[in-house]
Amino acid sequence: MMTERKTMISAFHIKILTLFPEMFPGMLGMSLSGKALEKGLWSLETVQLRDYAEDNHKTVDDTPYGGGAGMVMKPDVLDRALRAHQPLGRFIYMTPRGKPFTQARAYELAQEKQLTILCGRYEGVDQRLLDAYQAEEICIGDYVLSGGEPAAMILLDACIRLLPGVLGNAETHTEESFENGLLEYPHYTRPTVWSGPDGIERGVPEVLASGHHGKVAAWRKIESERITHERRPDLWEKYLNREKLQKREG
Ligand code: SAM
Repeated sequence: MMTERKTMISAFHIKILTLFPEMFPGMLGMSLSGKALEKGLWSLETVQLRDYAEDNHKTVDDTPYGGGAGMVMKPDVLDRALRAHQPLGRFIYMTPRGKPFTQARAYELAQEKQLTILCGRYEGVDQRLLDAYQAEEICIGDYVLSGGEPAAMILLDACIRLLPGVLGNAETHTEESFENGLLEYPHYTRPTVWSGPDGIERGVPEVLASGHHGKVAAWRKIESERITHERRPDLWEKYLNREKLQKREG
């Protein structure tokens, strides 16, 4: 029996090819992305790869040529699944070997009408399948997960919140980390003075309560720059280069 989940096709339609379709929508069915799913701002279709195995054992993997530990996902099985789910739109394979996922990439993917995401398991996927379908290989960070499903959810979470109508009026992403090449400034809310487990009373930076928009903006920029410099020398260098270029171009 086929174990596929289909929904109405929205303006941002996602197909997930996985051995664990029951993991979806998972966290994407909650909070902002969950409400957006209910409203039809995005839609989800899961494909159980095992349904495309042809033997009695429903085999989807085999031992690697060249030897070594682990198993490799078979290209013929994946190919049958992909042929059965055309058109694919942009075809993505989640893998630690991919290009790093960034906010810029999230914006780019959120413009697409359809993404098809292949979630790997075991040691990954036979290279020939990735070559034949010109898969776009994306990595969500320099660590190894046991499967592509949590990686796909992270990628989708970042894209979905950028879709029109997903964030409420009160929320915005224009001042968030990475939007201008910097990490975000620190936030504070009430109470004005608060003491934590160390017993030290901590106040809120005075400028934030001053009501002076220009001063608040200047403070936030300085803090953003300080934090980026301290924590992300890679981003800081890019930011400085961009600033230099902008000054040169007037
Ligand atoms: N042998 C692979 C390697 O060393 O690159 C790791 C395979 S991992 C155990 C199984 C699957 O998890 C991968 O095929 C991929 O789909 C997913 N995965 C693991 N880490 C990931 C990451 N950082 N970004 C995206 N996908 C990841």
